[in-house]
Amino acid sequence: MPLPIHFPLFSAARPLAALGLLLGSTLACLTPTTAQDMARTRQTIDRLTASDLHGRGYVSGGEQRAAAYLQDRFCALGLQPLAPDYYQFFTLPVNTFPGRAELSADGQSLRPGLDFIAAPHSGPGEVRGPVYQLDSLVFAQPAAQQKLLAMPLAKAVLVLTQAQAGRLAELPPEVQAHLATAAAQLTLVPGKLTAGIAGEQSLRPRLEVRAAAWPATARTVRLHLDARLHPAYRTQNVVGYLPGTARPDSFVVVSAHYDHLGRLGRDTYFPGANDNASGVAMLLELAAYYARPENRPAYSVAFLAFGAEEAGLVGSSYFVEHPLIPLPAIRVLANLDLLGTGGEGLTVVNGRVFEDQFARLQRLNATGNYITSLAARGRAANSDHFPFSERGVPALFFYTRGGITAYHDVQDRPETLPLTAFRGVFGLLRDFLNDAGAAPGK
Ligand SMILES: [Zn+2]
Repeated sequence: MPLPIHFPLFSAARPLAALGLLLGSTLACLTPTTAQDMARTRQTIDRLTASDLHGRGYVSGGEQRAAAYLQDRFCALGLQPLAPDYYQFFTLPVNTFPGRAELSADGQSLRPGLDFIAAPHSGPGEVRGPVYQLDSLVFAQPAAQQKLLAMPLAKAVLVLTQAQAGRLAELPPEVQAHLATAAAQLTLVPGKLTAGIAGEQSLRPRLEVRAAAWPATARTVRLHLDARLHPAYRTQNVVGYLPGTARPDSFVVVSAHYDHLGRLGRDTYFPGANDNASGVAMLLELAAYYARPENRPAYSVAFLAFGAEEAGLVGSSYFVEHPLIPLPAIRVLANLDLLGTGGEGLTVVNGRVFEDQFARLQRLNATGNYITSLAARGRAANSDHFPFSERGVPALFFYTRGGITAYHDVQDRPETLPLTAFRGVFGLLRDFLNDAGAAPGK
């Protein structure tokens, strides 16, 4: 387990702590003395988005490096492990892009991440072939379908618009099967490219290309994509808690996913500053707060950093299937995902489901004047609160609105993350968790 390069708790003002770091990992477990701190928050986000964490995905052990960093932070805060060494292991199938990711049209290179991405389920391949641009007549005219069926595609690169790609299922099965024989498929996307993670792999390369970056006259394509499917990749949730001083069997839970989309080839990775280094930073700031001797909570407070959220809520789903806390003992769960903006306020998913909890939030926000606009949403399977609320746990998902629009792309970087409402959201969450049982001496 490598020591983190930037260890946020240590500074020139804390020479003993710095000495502890130098002496070895057992002495690195120290209790912090500061409350919510924007400089430390920035350091956390910078560390989680650094290139040697590889986008916290499944290439070069990125998620493992991120988990090791969280393990160190949990340990330094004095959290008790909920599993040995804080790690709850599980496996998932995951497709990855570890090596080359290159695309050119008529000799003109396109930039990975910015001009093209791999579709999540893309297979590997090295292709050099003519462009076959799909004609929309094929959706309307049987004659156009016959013409297409007569054309060999095995050496061609099929290029189609996103609208056409959405209509492929309308074609007769034999036409669909024929299109699938193309050596590779490029889908031209009109807006931003949005990456994702899949647990399966297609036979041939499938790329998504920013339509504005695609030369309309392109005749020849060259591409090289390395893709590797791991049928059972082992990753982990990182889980710790602070035992309650009065009611240790009752839990208030803070959760945030630390994984992201990993790499697209050797030269490009997805930093995931907003998604979700920001939420992990908030989780760590709350942990630092409750770890202070004067703030030791009456109820136990658990901190669950989930893996594999981007692959479909895999870590949180595993946790509810193998709970390390009895689910009925959870009084409330606050899931944090995308907390890096806030110019337009804060949204609470499940706020309309757990109306009493949302009413509490509104009351606390009115008293503390933390957030300009607090909005409630209904049920949505869009982050790690979902497996919990489906089992009846009062679980709310908090995300900030406004500011940058980078999302699941290479532009979700720490330098441009405004953290507009971070301090206010911290205040509101602290009051909310305190009110739910985390306040001292309740
Ligand atoms: Zn996320």
